[in-house]
Amino acid sequence: MRGLERLRSLLRVAGSFIHSRWWLRFSDRRSLEAWQMRQLQRFLRETAPKAPRMRAFREQPLAHWPEMDKALLMSEFSACNSQGIELQPALDVALQAEQSRDFSPQLGELTVGLSSGTSGHRGVFLVGREERERWAGTLLARTLPTRLLGHLLPWRPPLRIAFFLRANSRLYTTLSSRRIDFAFHDLLLGLDAALGELERQQPHILVAPATVLRGLAEAHLAGRLRIAPEHLVSVAEVLEEEDAQRIEQAFGRRPAQIYQASEGFLGYSCERGNLHLNETHLLIEPEWLDEQRLRFQPLITDFSRTTQIIVRYRLNDILQLAPEPCPCGRAERTLTAIEGRADEVLWLPALDGSGLRPLYPDLLRRAIATAATQLEQWRICQDGMDWHLQLQAGEQVATEAALREALATFFQQQQVQPATLHVSAWLPDAPGAKRRRLLLKRQPEGTPCTY
Ligand SMILES: [Zn+2]
Repeated sequence: MRGLERLRSLLRVAGSFIHSRWWLRFSDRRSLEAWQMRQLQRFLRETAPKAPRMRAFREQPLAHWPEMDKALLMSEFSACNSQGIELQPALDVALQAEQSRDFSPQLGELTVGLSSGTSGHRGVFLVGREERERWAGTLLARTLPTRLLGHLLPWRPPLRIAFFLRANSRLYTTLSSRRIDFAFHDLLLGLDAALGELERQQPHILVAPATVLRGLAEAHLAGRLRIAPEHLVSVAEVLEEEDAQRIEQAFGRRPAQIYQASEGFLGYSCERGNLHLNETHLLIEPEWLDEQRLRFQPLITDFSRTTQIIVRYRLNDILQLAPEPCPCGRAERTLTAIEGRADEVLWLPALDGSGLRPLYPDLLRRAIATAATQLEQWRICQDGMDWHLQLQAGEQVATEAALREALATFFQQQQVQPATLHVSAWLPDAPGAKRRRLLLKRQPEGTPCTY
């Protein structure tokens, strides 16, 4: 029976791989939208109403369904999944895994994921077995470069993938098989602990947060790590241009990106290196933040999920749409960047007295990166009109002066009252912590304009 189960599972992963890779590829926006509508109608009629909270909306168009976010999902946990699972037992499994670093226990057949919750809101997400297998197939289909496809053939040596994450999950080990040699590296153990194991494995594919890829690139350039990955994938953090360049310098390849969160598989880089939204599996409603309609916060409806019901769920991320379609011809929307989280937007009073004005992460990062090339690390925490700036730089005094000047110019360009800057030395993050350059602790007094 186990053998049969394994075969079924393998067939589901393979089926979803083939379906996503060759069948679900839309070059025409209208056919993509028609596909989405068919999936959505079925989902809203048959799947979503299995969650008690959604039942009352069964016959209604999507626009009438209420929005949700992580706080709501946590407070009405059992009403937002189709299996009637209560929050506490799910949380117990997740926290137990987190503490023991053994990520195999499940809740029956369900995998429990814990979202990192950098802003203090942890989220728990449930994934059923079949969903997990379909997800694994889709993820591979969307991210595996054609030149590595041959490794999935039975007579070739298996594809070797090294994964660096804060926490492992059944989600990822689902990929492990005779065709895929999958090694998980625990970020909490630090990078040096992994170097030996990496050299032994010699991964074809290296998947890690941007800062970790950068760390491995530095180790490689310093001669402390000898590997030659053929594909690099950045996950879980904003990939900054300087990091991308350094990684390319070390390994001779530009890192691709997977935009994956506990909330779902949201996006991936295509072979042209551009990031596409995974609109074949999700409906993404943009909530525009600017007049040019380039920046938005996404509301996602994931019609590929059956356990955790995600309908019009507000992600805390700010995305930037590319003004031009991607030359690869995919109809899925193209992003210029995942800018950061909504709480990475800092706010200052507009000079014209119209209230608080948002300062977007991407603009601030760029202003700082171009001002000070000697900068190794930096972070800004806003507390009202005070900005606490931590930095680490080769030429500390000169860099500080350059930064003060750059920020003064930035405030002027943005037409806002300048914040008071307090500069101090860099305090390193705990190992495994997500990099956060910008942090809004408290807004200045006043009414925010719209984002
Ligand atoms: Zn593309």
